[in-house]
Amino acid sequence: MKKIRLGRTNLYINPLGWGGIPIQRVSEQEAVSVVQAVIGMGVELLDTARGYTDSEYKIGLALQKIDQPVILSSKSHVRTEKIQDEVRTSLDQMRVNKIHIYHLHAVNRFEEYEQVMRTGGAYEGLQRMKDRGLIGHIGISSHNLKILERAIEENHFDVIMACYSFLEPEADQRIFPLARAKEIGILAMKPFSGGVIEEPGPALRFVLSQPDVVPIPGSESLERAKANWEVFVQNRGLTPADQQYIDTLRKEMDHQFCRRCDYCQPCSEKISIQHMMGLQYIVKRFGPNTKKLDWFQMLVEKGRNCTECGECLTRCPYQLPIPDLIKKNLTWYDELAKNS
Ligand code: SF4
Ligand code: SF4
Repeated sequence: MKKIRLGRTNLYINPLGWGGIPIQRVSEQEAVSVVQAVIGMGVELLDTARGYTDSEYKIGLALQKIDQPVILSSKSHVRTEKIQDEVRTSLDQMRVNKIHIYHLHAVNRFEEYEQVMRTGGAYEGLQRMKDRGLIGHIGISSHNLKILERAIEENHFDVIMACYSFLEPEADQRIFPLARAKEIGILAMKPFSGGVIEEPGPALRFVLSQPDVVPIPGSESLERAKANWEVFVQNRGLTPADQQYIDTLRKEMDHQFCRRCDYCQPCSEKISIQHMMGLQYIVKRFGPNTKKLDWFQMLVEKGRNCTECGECLTRCPYQLPIPDLIKKNLTWYDELAKNS
């Protein structure tokens, strides 16, 4: 297996990482088996976040029982220098002395970007953690390609994390060449578009066709982890059947799939449009406990305030029928809540 260099981090890894979102949905024991299995298969980079509830903790449990070195990547939504406390919590949760890559998580708006980069902002906090050797490299994750373009241009980060799948392929033209030119490592999040794509073969073969980009598909079952790994070791290009699957799903999702770019904001009712658009996938990701989460309840209640003013419609570059889809998702959710 040919390792790749993750840009100027000088970390050499197998170019298939693993993402820690799905293990939130399973027991500690199941999560530990999955994490150990993926490391046993040869995965060398594990990605998680403070925001993924007990994911860091479960990874920490798994790491206690193995000797193999792995590259750890985590992230935090805290936008000020208080992010230093988040790093310490991540270290405690994963029971390690150092996290190789720590990202500013989901910096999707320019106001947020300016906040994290200003004096006293989260970037400065991470620099302090780096100076103390508690983290190795500073990264940024964003769903907004304009923010990633600026972050790369300003050249503060060693690693960037962009959404990349056959349903949202724009990063390969807009982001990857810029990052390569500055030797910034590239992690590809959401290779299955947050659960919209169900077939691992076409999804992963598409992303793996970029040889220096490391996808981080998550898995909460051994079966899924093995399926992903198999696609990776087969090392094949896209097949005609893959292409057919891709073409069909692209057509089907063209006017439904939210790219989570936030270009439709601001909403006068302060609705988190991208989350309301992806409501079904959030429930799928967080499992049966989703409705008990406070932030989720707030999200849904705010979503109910949509006045159908249509302001967001003019801003969505993909012409998604936002108010209709919000309504449809709320109806779906209410039905689900009634029957559970
Ligand atoms: S249509 Fe609904 S979601 Fe869109 S801006 Fe108006 S209130 Fe917000
Ligand atoms: S609704 Fe459109 S503009 Fe808004 S986040 Fe989704 S894709 Fe982007």
